[in-house]
Amino acid sequence: MERHSSVQDRKLIGLNLELTNVCPFRCPQCYVPSDGEKRFLPKETALAWIRDADRHGVRYVNMSGGETLCYPFLEELIRECAGRGMKASVSISGAAASKEKLLGLQEAGISSICVSLNGSTAKINDVTRQGFEEAIAALRWLKEIPDCVTLVNFVMHGSNAEDLPDLLRLLFQDVPPVSHT
Ligand code: SF4
Repeated sequence: MERHSSVQDRKLIGLNLELTNVCPFRCPQCYVPSDGEKRFLPKETALAWIRDADRHGVRYVNMSGGETLCYPFLEELIRECAGRGMKASVSISGAAASKEKLLGLQEAGISSICVSLNGSTAKINDVTRQGFEEAIAALRWLKEIPDCVTLVNFVMHGSNAEDLPDLLRLLFQDVPPVSHT
């Protein structure tokens, strides 16, 4: 007999917290309003929402922006999630990133870090995003951090759809380790 899911069967397992509209970049594809007013999700509100989500069985919390690394309480929110056994992930552009900051996220208990990149070359990426060099640098640093799951947020447009094989090649073969010279 066919089984129809009831409201009780359906479970919200993940949520996204949009932490801030602050970002050093102005990407052509961006939907985040940049009206000059800097907005940050209040820390206590974010913590209360995470606790509430945990009580209701949510297991995954993604945090986006704006630029999440511009949010001053990012590590605290990650710690709150990790302490509750929830998997926390963040999306970053590479702006405001450094190896130390990324290590800080890992020490706080991050589950995965997603880097935004829309092309295998600056020319292709720049049509829809800023920050090609910054994204590549972040990917290089992440490659050096053991046990850190790295994802790439590739937003497909007419301008980059055919570039996907080259981007995959870049990600899996050619992103070299950071030079320590
Ligand atoms: S990096 Fe993200 S938040 Fe910043 S301008 Fe680009 S799309 Fe918008």
